[in-house]
Amino acid sequence: MNKVMLITGASRGIGAATARLAAARGYALCLNYHQRRTAADALVADIVRAGGRAIAVQADVADEAQVARLFAELDREFGRLDVLVNNAGMLEQQMRLEQMDLGRWQRVFAANVFGSFLCARAAITRMSTANGGGGGAIVNVSSVAARLGAPGEYIDYAAAKGAIDSMTLGLAKEVAAEGIRVNAVRPGVIDTDIHASGGEPGRVARVSQSVPMGRGGQAQEVAEAILWLASDQASYTSGALLDVAGGR
Ligand code: NAP
Repeated sequence: MNKVMLITGASRGIGAATARLAAARGYALCLNYHQRRTAADALVADIVRAGGRAIAVQADVADEAQVARLFAELDREFGRLDVLVNNAGMLEQQMRLEQMDLGRWQRVFAANVFGSFLCARAAITRMSTANGGGGGAIVNVSSVAARLGAPGEYIDYAAAKGAIDSMTLGLAKEVAAEGIRVNAVRPGVIDTDIHASGGEPGRVARVSQSVPMGRGGQAQEVAEAILWLASDQASYTSGALLDVAGGR
């Protein structure tokens, strides 16, 4: 039987690239999206046309009831879970900290941090050998912002990714003896829509100048790292924070 991977935020960007690569490597896929149903459906159609297996499930990962529904759909369709990729994430308009309000911080932490916690909790419940599961892997999508801090842009987003790093370290230890590996990738500046959502569509070109490799990354390059951490080739790797950032 094919291994089953759940990817949150898979309608575009790094999540969609991970889905395409995972499908090519034989995973059956549960692809979560938030608002872009057409994009998620088109991705599923591509994968199925190529002989793969995938479904798209709408859910806001920050909403506990919607995450419960997402995992209920996963159970109904596949009846197992081998890999969770906590990829869904967002940021808001670039600004200094003193211009931000509490509502923004609550949205940023809800989507980036609590969403990953909710999905990790649901995944562990199913994967843990202590609960009769078969083990598995969780890959969190953090960011180099966790160690660079994103000054003048989105310190709140950087801090949320710092929380993901700490969660990765703690959870890896907590479930290591239950057959579950937990790791994170920390992408650098990657060419996706997320920069436009922060108000600077040309951010990749600007920031590339401070990247030792002299360029931004592609979503596919992050997907390769995610797929490795998810795979049996990474069988002794847990609690790792893998930078995919062109040396930055
Ligand atoms: P993106 O192109 O903006 O795509 C974001 C994805 O997340 C979309 O599929 C979106 O769904 C989904 N999403 C957002 N909020 C969600 C929520 N509340 N519930 C469920 N899904 C939600 O972003 P990306 O660049 O691919 O980013 C993917 C991950 O990589 C994020 O965690 C991001 O923080 C991280 N990252 C990105 C970069 C970069 O330079 N691009 C660097 C470091 C880390 P809809 O489209 O359906 O709304």
